[in-house]
Amino acid sequence: MKIRKLLVWGTAVLFISCATNPFTGKQTLALVPNSQILPMAFQQYNQFLGENKVVKGTSDAEMITRVGQKIARASERWLNANGYSGYLKDYKWEYNLVEDKTVNAWCMPGGKIVFYTGILPIAQSETGIAAIMGHEVAHALANHGQQRMSASQIQQVAGAATAVAVSGKSQQTQQIVGTAFGLGSQFGVMLPFSRSHETEADRIGLQLMAIAGYNPDEAANLWRRMKANSGGQSPPEFMSTHPSSDTRIANLTAWAPSARAEAKKFGITTFK
Ligand SMILES: [Zn+2]
Repeated sequence: MKIRKLLVWGTAVLFISCATNPFTGKQTLALVPNSQILPMAFQQYNQFLGENKVVKGTSDAEMITRVGQKIARASERWLNANGYSGYLKDYKWEYNLVEDKTVNAWCMPGGKIVFYTGILPIAQSETGIAAIMGHEVAHALANHGQQRMSASQIQQVAGAATAVAVSGKSQQTQQIVGTAFGLGSQFGVMLPFSRSHETEADRIGLQLMAIAGYNPDEAANLWRRMKANSGGQSPPEFMSTHPSSDTRIANLTAWAPSARAEAKKFGITTFK
């Protein structure tokens, strides 16, 4: 393990654009550093909030914030414990509930989260919210958004990021960033997460919810409700995902004990 970490650091020094993701253990090509790409994502997020009805001050809105903070804290604790403190230094966590009957939720890289009110009846409880939040945050932490950008798109964004540091990002660049980071449906294009990304987000998300003190057994129950609600159709973020609800439920059930074991390392032994 130590040798592996040394190798990872050595490689990072030589090829700064290739980074190992701590959550997936995979090498990911990062032509654009977070410090450059995240501000563009933040701009997209603010634009989205400006164009949609953000719910403020209700118990539901407070619950989204509360769960989000706990999942964020769980991510940071996990990273610190595994030798990656500072990994989220460019993150600016934010949690918003948006009035919209669509059954959906997402998290942009950089920790910008949106829940639609339409997903609340299926989430059903704070623990259900935590299962969704864990999954969405996991996509961001694993850099799945950047991975679904093509190499040429990344280069285009990188070029724009360096050429136009603060303002005046082109419409096209914004669209690329938005598409990759999950706001694509706004522009009529939605790039799907792959099956492996979905499975990865399920696994990481389950650990995060457990470390945050939420019962990981509830993730499988959430997906049972999703399945019952959908009438064969999954909600938008999950729509393109190939793992069937049944596979997903089976995976989450099988992984719950290891999520509990992971949480125990952080002193979490009771779950709500
Ligand atoms: Zn997903």
